Amino acid sequence: MSVVTRFPPSPTGHLHLGGARTALFNWLYARKNGGEMVLRIEDTDQARSDQEYIESILDSMKWLGLAWDSGPFYQTRRLERYHAVVEKLLEQGDAYYCFCSRERLDTLREAQRERGEKPRYDGHCRDRVPSDADTSSPVVRFRTPLEGETMFEDSVRGTVRVSNQELDDLVIARADGSPTYNLTVVVDDADMRISHVIRGEDHVSNTPRQIHIFRALGYELPVFAHVPMIQGPDGQRLSKRHGALSVLEYRDMGILPEALLNHLIRLGWSHGDQEIFSIDEMIELFDLNQVSAAPANFDMEKLLWINQHYIVRSDPTRLAREVSRIMNARGITLLNGPRLSEVVEVMRKRVRSLVEMADSITYLYNSVDEYDSEAITGYVDNRTSSLLAVVRRGLQQLEDWTSQEINQVIRQIVADEGVRFPEIAQPLRIAVSGSVATPSIDQTLYLVGRKNTLDRIDKAAEFFARNR
Ligand code: GLU
Repeated sequence: MSVVTRFPPSPTGHLHLGGARTALFNWLYARKNGGEMVLRIEDTDQARSDQEYIESILDSMKWLGLAWDSGPFYQTRRLERYHAVVEKLLEQGDAYYCFCSRERLDTLREAQRERGEKPRYDGHCRDRVPSDADTSSPVVRFRTPLEGETMFEDSVRGTVRVSNQELDDLVIARADGSPTYNLTVVVDDADMRISHVIRGEDHVSNTPRQIHIFRALGYELPVFAHVPMIQGPDGQRLSKRHGALSVLEYRDMGILPEALLNHLIRLGWSHGDQEIFSIDEMIELFDLNQVSAAPANFDMEKLLWINQHYIVRSDPTRLAREVSRIMNARGITLLNGPRLSEVVEVMRKRVRSLVEMADSITYLYNSVDEYDSEAITGYVDNRTSSLLAVVRRGLQQLEDWTSQEINQVIRQIVADEGVRFPEIAQPLRIAVSGSVATPSIDQTLYLVGRKNTLDRIDKAAEFFARNR
């Protein structure tokens, strides 16, 4: 059997972690088995679907590198096909018109709730022959078997059994004729020859209903795999509080796509204790039967840790390109500062995201107009001005502006003046960057450049003199 998986988002919101993880598992399973992944846009709920979300979902998939092999197919372009299937089910007697009014259904549900029963349709119209007196537009319901049970082998959860009595006659076409999810999904999965349905656990209760529709239409069943829900590290349902964002928001906060994929694959799947997987390894090692049914924990701290791992190993040219995009978006021009690929080399071990990188290198490109007052209190004293003057002279006379030479001259001055290294290094950091959060002082000054370093020392010395 050739493997065909699918990713069928409803464009009612941006792509979030759960959806991205589902897309990843489907993509990996297809890649691993030399199969294909279909992308299908489930946009039949026209009131809630939005073109903006379709674009954002496609952008998210492209950014993650989860290329689909066919599609996107839009369900709204297949309405005729669904109508034909509803007609067929009506003709076969596997579906029937239901004329029950909203009031009747509300009263029924209320009575069931009062009796402590699960609300379900009571089959009122199941064997009723429509008459001329039926004036309202009916819905179409699927005729679910009243007895027996429905069973399937879930690749993640094992055998799942549901008594058919639990399943009422679900609506497959609304009064306006529009088909509902459980119908469209079966028609599409059959028409698109889907071999494996890999989706979130929240759909497990739909599966027996869909199986009945597959059977009524004489279609072969796909393999089902319901992957566990994602929760926060505290075991609560995942929310913004845990740092749960849309895929594009992770991109905008400077997470690399391979880092996000790497955290996503660990949400429900593991391979021993291994944390870091290249894409090739993911494809090689991933399998459905190692997906756990237990809920998976998303952990922002771990994601940042993985992100740092990839930042440290990434091609500097690529990192520079990403960071320059962030800087440009902030209106910072890179022309008057050091080469970004060089900066990125120096900084990459010190940051966990590209936004953090951009924040911490802005001083290299913008003038320093403010100084961290706490740093001044901590590191600037009566001797600072005269020490800075000596350092300034030493730096001005350096033959080559390299970090080695800068380091040597500062060490020499430390020895000559009989001071501790930070007494010189910290005021220098404040002078050239505004704060003390910079890499080693020689690398920092090297990146700031000779002219800027000397100018900034002058400007800071003046400020320190005025403000003490
Ligand atoms: N459109 C559904 C969703 O976004 C997909 C359900 C399925 O995978 O069958 O939840």
